[in-house]
This record gives sequence, C-alpha cells and structure tokens, in this order.
Amino acid sequence: MTVTLGDPGSVIVCGDHFDGSADALGGPIEILVKDAEIAQLAPAVSRPPGARVIDLGGHTVTPGFIDCHVHLTMDASQLSTQLLDSTATKALVGLRLANDYLDQGFTTLRDLGSADPEWPTIDLRNAIAAGTVEGPRLVVAAHLIGSTGSHADVSSLYPPRWNLPIAVLADSPDAIRSQVRREHKYGSDWIKTTNTGGYFSPGDDPARLTWFDHEMQALCDTAAQLGLAVAVHTGAAAGCKQAIACGARSLEHAYLIDDEAIAMAEDAGTFIVPTMQMTQEDLLALGQGQLTPYTAAKIERDAQQIIEAQRRIAASRTKIAFGTDCGMFPFSHGALEFQAMVAAGLNPARALRAATGTAAELLGRNDIGTLKPGAVADIIAMPGDPIDDITLTTGVDFVMIGGQVRRQPAPPP
Ligand SMILES: [Zn+2]
Repeated sequence: MTVTLGDPGSVIVCGDHFDGSADALGGPIEILVKDAEIAQLAPAVSRPPGARVIDLGGHTVTPGFIDCHVHLTMDASQLSTQLLDSTATKALVGLRLANDYLDQGFTTLRDLGSADPEWPTIDLRNAIAAGTVEGPRLVVAAHLIGSTGSHADVSSLYPPRWNLPIAVLADSPDAIRSQVRREHKYGSDWIKTTNTGGYFSPGDDPARLTWFDHEMQALCDTAAQLGLAVAVHTGAAAGCKQAIACGARSLEHAYLIDDEAIAMAEDAGTFIVPTMQMTQEDLLALGQGQLTPYTAAKIERDAQQIIEAQRRIAASRTKIAFGTDCGMFPFSHGALEFQAMVAAGLNPARALRAATGTAAELLGRNDIGTLKPGAVADIIAMPGDPIDDITLTTGVDFVMIGGQVRRQPAPPP
C-alpha cells in the first residue's frame, strides 16, 4: 500500500479582508488553503503540521479580481498590422499579457473576442486549464458576431479585394444561427455580438442599431438553446433595450443608455459592464490628437452623453460587473477601472464587488469571486484599505491562484 502525503496547506494571516460580497471590510482573519481550495476561514484557523504561514499583516486580502471584458489577442495601438499576425503569434502575445495582468491581481478574465479566423483564445484557455502553461482562468467568447459593416466588421480596415477572413459576419437569422452554432462547436463559453456601431470601427455609428429585433432574437435563442450566455457590445439606448428584451446576459459599454433602459436592466437582472476607464483613455487620446478622424468625430459628439450615462448606471440598482476592454488600451491600466467607477459615483465596496462577487455571478461561477470555504483559492492582497482609498487596488503585491502563490510582497529589510 502506498501512502500519499497530501498538501500540508497554507495559512494566510490577513491584516484585513474583503469577502467579495460585503459592504465593508471584514476585519482581521485567517484563511486555511488546502488542495487548491479555501478549507477554513476564521479568526484563528487550525494549523496542520507542515503548513506554510503567509503573513499579510497590513494588507487587505480579497478574492482574485475578475475582468469581464478583455481582448488578449487584439492590440488597438497597432490594430491594422497586428490583425495580420499569425494565430500562434496572437496566442503567444496574449499569454504574456494574461500573465502580466495576473500579476496585478486578475485571476479570471472573460475574453470577448479575437479578430482571427482561428481560435487563439480557445487554445489559450485550454492550455491554461490543462496546466500546459500557467495563466489566469479564461472564459472565452471566441469571435464577435455582427452584420456586414457593423462594429464586428474589422475587415473594413482593409480594401475589399483582400478578402481577409478576420470578421464573423451574418446578415439574416439563418446565417446568425449558423455562426452561433459554429462558435459553440469550437468551444466558446459565451456568445459575443454587437447590436450597434462602435467608436473604433470606421463605417458604423454607436447611436444606430445594426441588428433587427428578429436577428438579435435569433442569436439569443440559439445561444440559449446551446446553454451559452450572450454579451452584447451596445451603445444607443435602443440597442440596450433590444439586448435586454432579447435576453442578453450582459450589456458591454452601454455607452448611451437612458433611464428607461436602466429600469429595464434592473427589472430583468441584466448585468452592465460599463468599461468606464476606456472612456477616460479615449478622451485622453482625443485631447492628444491620437485618434483617427472618424473615431474622434464620434467620440467628440457623444462624450458628454457617455459620461452622463455612466453616472446614471452608477446611481442605479443594476448589477455592475468590472470589465475594461483592455487590449483596446494597455493591460497595465486595467486596474484603473476601479478609480473610474468610483469617480462615476460607485461606492468603493460596490466597485470591489463588481470585480469579485458580482463578476462571478455574471459568469455563473459560484466557486470564485468570494472568500468562503469550498471556493477555489484565488486570493490576492494589497497594502492598506482599498475602501478608504480605491487607488490602492493598483498596488496588489500578493497573488495566489488555485492555491499556488504566484507573487508575494518582499520581506521587510
Ligand atoms: Zn471589447
């Protein structure tokens, strides 16, 4: 008979903690981590022989952050050339970005689309899940499905004679069903679509719908039949309402949402991922004259309305989940979303919940986003009290994923 000695576990001594669902910090606590899970959470946990003690006094410990809107394989700063990279190059660069972001405390990422004819984000997700490479947990919508000439149609960046297959387009309910089924067939966890134009695509307008109601309904019904949730890039209030009415699970950006659509989202339980830092990045780029003329014109026209919409979202009872659109701007700025949320009017505890408990609820994951016995041990920490000072969320210096310590503070000299 062979006896296998199990993992003796780790005890994390927390100066303070935020559990992912509360309105405030919960005070000093100890967490026993064993076999990649949280085994015990108490003022003083049992200390199994051989267990490692990790002292995070002076730190606030939280569940690992979840970013519900990233693009690991898209680099907006050089989009037109980067889209032409090979699938493997996109996956390898994305892996590096994912791990740099993990070091900032983001242990789970929902990737909402690659502009590639193949499936680089699916491959990344699978390689990480199999332990082939290290990285954050990935939840993936492989491609953005849209109509010809919509925000999804990045092929409009190139002359039509090039026929580049980097966009997933469909122009009727039958064609949409077929594309949703194809996403499912190759392993997408979510379906991502756009039902209005966007700001960074040339020929479309965020204030206008790009799906008819029956097209959006065909997409949502097909996804629902396959057990997939739908995330909708949307701008115009009419787009927000169409997405909610058709059963989308999350509105992405919701740039131009109005009070009526917010009330609908509250009633339906639709999540909003308002990507507020991206607006700050866009306005900065606008001020510095770095935007293409078509993007600058659209953002100039809508900027005030977007900022007002973000304040309305913050003042509402909607379920707000943390998402950045990193890829469209550098991942090193992703954690600034917390500050943008608070600047728009969210209280800091709600901003922290947006990236932990509420984000996990959006993803339908009961095993992440909260500190509780039985949860996966995705645990991070930062010096100080992030509810008192939200800027401290950029200072994460302890990262554990699946019970493995990836990063910890340097010992005092
Ligand atoms: Zn996006």
